[in-house]
Amino acid sequence: MSRVRCLVFNAALGALDYRVPEGMDAPAGSVVVLPLGPRQILGVVWDDGELPGDDYPAHKLRAVLEVLPVPPLPAPLRRLISWCADYYLAPLSAVARMTLSSSAALKGGGTVTEYRLTGVEPARMTPQRLQALDLLQGEQATMRELAEIAGVSEAVLRGMLGQGLLEAVLVDSDRPYPEPDPRFAQPALEGEQAAAAAEMVAAVSAHAFQPFLLDGVTGSGKTETYFEAVAAALEAGRQVLVLLPEIALTAAFLGRFEARFGVAPVTWHSSLKASERRRAWRQVAFGGAKVVVGARSALFLPFADLGLVVVDEAHEVAFKQDDGVRYNARDVAVMRGHFEQVPVVLASATPALESLQMAEAGRYRRLVLPSRFGGATLPKIEIVNLTEMQPPRGRWLAPPLVEALADRLAKGEQSLLFLNRRGYAPLTLCRHCGFRFKCPNCSAWLVEHRLSQRLACHHCGHEVPPPPVCPECGEPDCLVACGPGVERIADEVGELLPGARVAVVTSDTLASPAAAAEFVAQAEAKAIDVIVGTQLVTKGFHFPELTLVGVVDADMGLDGGDLRAAERTYQQIAQVAGRAGRGAKAGAVLIQTRHPKAAVIAALASGERDAFYAAETEARREAGAPPFGRWAAIIVSSEDEAEAREAARAIGGTRPDEPGVLILGPAPAPLSLLRGRHRYRLLIAARRSAEVQKLIRTWLAPLRMPPGVRVAVDIDPYSF
Ligand code: ADP
Ligand code: ZN
Repeated sequence: MSRVRCLVFNAALGALDYRVPEGMDAPAGSVVVLPLGPRQILGVVWDDGELPGDDYPAHKLRAVLEVLPVPPLPAPLRRLISWCADYYLAPLSAVARMTLSSSAALKGGGTVTEYRLTGVEPARMTPQRLQALDLLQGEQATMRELAEIAGVSEAVLRGMLGQGLLEAVLVDSDRPYPEPDPRFAQPALEGEQAAAAAEMVAAVSAHAFQPFLLDGVTGSGKTETYFEAVAAALEAGRQVLVLLPEIALTAAFLGRFEARFGVAPVTWHSSLKASERRRAWRQVAFGGAKVVVGARSALFLPFADLGLVVVDEAHEVAFKQDDGVRYNARDVAVMRGHFEQVPVVLASATPALESLQMAEAGRYRRLVLPSRFGGATLPKIEIVNLTEMQPPRGRWLAPPLVEALADRLAKGEQSLLFLNRRGYAPLTLCRHCGFRFKCPNCSAWLVEHRLSQRLACHHCGHEVPPPPVCPECGEPDCLVACGPGVERIADEVGELLPGARVAVVTSDTLASPAAAAEFVAQAEAKAIDVIVGTQLVTKGFHFPELTLVGVVDADMGLDGGDLRAAERTYQQIAQVAGRAGRGAKAGAVLIQTRHPKAAVIAALASGERDAFYAAETEARREAGAPPFGRWAAIIVSSEDEAEAREAARAIGGTRPDEPGVLILGPAPAPLSLLRGRHRYRLLIAARRSAEVQKLIRTWLAPLRMPPGVRVAVDIDPYSF
């Protein structure tokens, strides 16, 4: 009789042993259906000898019910899952679940009947039908999935089917995607591009692990260059994974990919429909999806034969996941390449200091593209000193910036204003009593959004309509906006330059790939004169007619005492500056600041990137901060403030005493109330060589916490 240890998706259970019945083949990695009490659950055969078993007597073991007809999770992926669990101190089952998140994909092979709305209006409307009609717009999935999406029973949907409100569609969920053609439209690369591409292509052909840092100024053609490595992987019949930081960027990317390879790549992100998710997951596993472009979660897809991993805009903060399994997709991408024995390309015009340090240490190969493609020049950067040239009261754009905007408008060229703040104003007050609108679930102010007529919390999503009277003093029409958000800047542009066509670009307005595609099309057709946007517009977009970039408030990211504040400000402004003058016409950048002498601002103005990075590196080295030291955070939270504080103190009270390891706190976390939970934090600052994970594991393992308390560990945290 053979006994297998299976990972089940329940952190409390971990791993359980089962019997493999006669005639069943269940090699390591097989996705299986298992009996558990009266239920059936999903599991993965995980026979790597690492998991502690349950020592259940052999004759009492229950049998594996079924091996699902999908390829077993490949060994390199299983190693990646184990590594993540160890490194990020996360339950193995929680990491593995990121691979098997799409249970629909596992079961619905072959021909599946899916359903979608027909557009027919119901003769009789019920609240449930109304809800289904609303939530199922644009969906197509099985009855079970639709019932889940709509939050109604299958019976309700069957009733709708009977009345012609839904229709059935037969789809083959196992049809492969059209294959990209590596030679469809191969560009001639310039000297440095060709040299960089040759190195990456050689590594793809060698099928060997090699991280590359593709470090090229904005507009240098990084994408065209790594496309050659993608082409090489395709020529070799292998698959490619390209990670992008935001789904808003995929629209622009898909168009470029299609122009180069003849067909669009397969996409993977959270707003895929269930049917698309099923097909994508299965084709990745069966090898019929050659190139996948996705958000960080795509890292855990079960590629049959991966040949290359690319992380574009690799410095982006969006690659850090800050709930559930707290991982950094940039680092996990490198580990995936390591386990798969394939090259990994990190592309950026403003690499993370960590990545530059790895290149310095010889662990990553740095490939430099020092100039813009086709002789385009880098934009000229000028400082607008706000201490000398102030905008009028209640306005945010100083005279030189307004003049430059008017000039571009007159010439029919496009401008971009950058302010990293969604909504109309960051703070809303009552003009009579000074009451401030605060989120009930978070320690944060509510932000006024005029476009959607809401006051919204940017942390938990809590929203209320603006109240007609002040909730504190009862005065009507009392709201005053304090400070600027992108919507307010857009209004200001509209008032200063009547006739200008202004577009606000944020995660609110570009929430779906379709909305993003629409924006790109409009900008390319020159139907927009001025784009006002958040960090979403700082990267990836290529608009040749855009010749002016204005940074509304360069100082915003600098206060706050974040470890990466200066680096991030540098990256954001350099990236947004890089949107200017990418075509034949030269670009200009105006940076509004109150601190023209600050090192970051001075470096941006003079273009001395290396000097800035060198100074920043030295400062971190001296402080023992990452990448020279290892940091971790322990976040203790509860809905009850006293309980959270007590628990954090209890953990602090048993802190280990290790040479070279400093443990600070507990102190209230920066967002001390988040989604209704009070949060305390301990910080661990250690030498690079310290075994931080082991220390935390032994420290926390014996502690027993009350049921309402959650303890989360954040290795290499971003927010300090
Ligand atoms: P980056 O990603 O470095 O900002 P891009 O890859 O967006 O730069 O390239 C900038 C522009 O130059 C794009 O329109 C791109 O298609 C074009 N380009 C870059 N390299 C080449 C090349 N070798 N041949 C033709 N066009 C190129
Ligand atoms: Zn909130």
